[in-house]
Amino acid sequence: DLKDAESRRKKLHNTIEDLKGSIRVFCRVRPLSKKEKEAGDTKVTKGVDSMNLSIESESAGSTKYTFDAVFLPGTQVEVFEDCKDLVQSAVDGYNVTLFAYGQTGAGKTFTMHGTKEEEGVAPRTIQELYRVMEEGKSRCNFTVMCSMLELYRNDLVDLLSKGNPAASKGKLVVKTDKAGAVMVENLTEETCETADELSRLLQRGNDQRTVAATEMNSESSRSHLVLIIKVVSVNRETKEQLQGKILLVDLAGSERLKRSGVEGDAQQEAIEINKSLTALGDVIEGLTKNQKVIAYRNHKLTQLMQDSLGGTAKTLMFVNCSPASSNLDETVMSLKYATRAKTITNTSGAKASKAGADGKDKKAGIKL
Ligand code: ADP
Ligand code: MG
Repeated sequence: DLKDAESRRKKLHNTIEDLKGSIRVFCRVRPLSKKEKEAGDTKVTKGVDSMNLSIESESAGSTKYTFDAVFLPGTQVEVFEDCKDLVQSAVDGYNVTLFAYGQTGAGKTFTMHGTKEEEGVAPRTIQELYRVMEEGKSRCNFTVMCSMLELYRNDLVDLLSKGNPAASKGKLVVKTDKAGAVMVENLTEETCETADELSRLLQRGNDQRTVAATEMNSESSRSHLVLIIKVVSVNRETKEQLQGKILLVDLAGSERLKRSGVEGDAQQEAIEINKSLTALGDVIEGLTKNQKVIAYRNHKLTQLMQDSLGGTAKTLMFVNCSPASSNLDETVMSLKYATRAKTITNTSGAKASKAGADGKDKKAGIKL
């Protein structure tokens, strides 16, 4: 098993250079919760190996899903080990996105942010970023800028604004400049000299999110949380300037609306989440199918991600799943959604489809 994980890791490292414009998908299945165990829930998820997951149920039989990595659930350290190259890429001037998709309770926030004891991708990214910059500081001068926002319904909320976060509602506008870079007008952006400073900002943003949620009578799982870290480097000798960006996105819960008894605000909320996740799925599918026109403009969520998804950007999607039989339907929906990102015929389309034609690599996703 160790050997298996090791060979996967090697493969992942080999592909990091080819990742431009492509989307890597990691599946992470959380453990059964105490509550689920007590309720007699059983596991429908079964690990095949480090890249394959099988769903097994009496009603639906057994179906295999292939990803770039499968964690059952793996440790926070192991998961980050397979993401951290992206931090180097951002310092090298790439735009990078890491996002988590899945139903509420599936482990998105645990993966992206984690707990104090078990830190997730965001705090580890911060540590890694400053470590990489420390390494390169004799050659380059670095500037890090951070913003944090939430997309609730169709409103962007500035989580680093000094006042009441909900007051920024309606004021933030997503724009693209001539070069295609996304900028959010009126969004607070703070420069961070140290990892500690950036961590504190993240904490402040999270606190503000709670304030905003109370104000707007919502739950945090019903909005998308976006952390934007910009890295500008100026070469001390050549004065060459590079700008990279890391987008860390904890998406709103993907669960379908239960039909009974939900109306009004909650219904509007669900409709908007559905719209945004559909727009994201369409963009991802468009990219994986090499479509000429990608529908970024269909939602603010995809507009925000426009310069960090496709093109030369590198993307890592987490699909977070519950193992419980009671969540089977949602789990299958999530896995299917993630599978849309898996038919990649990207920069080397002809080669990739040829590889697929012999049947061997058809489901392997990103061509290695
Ligand atoms: P989501 O953000 O998708 O709604 P959470 O990240 O809040 O879900 O996870 C729901 C619960 O499951 C939390 O109590 C969390 O600590 C736990 N959990 C999630 N993923 C893991 C994991 N990989 N290992 C242990 N516990 C986990
Ligand atoms: Mg969450």
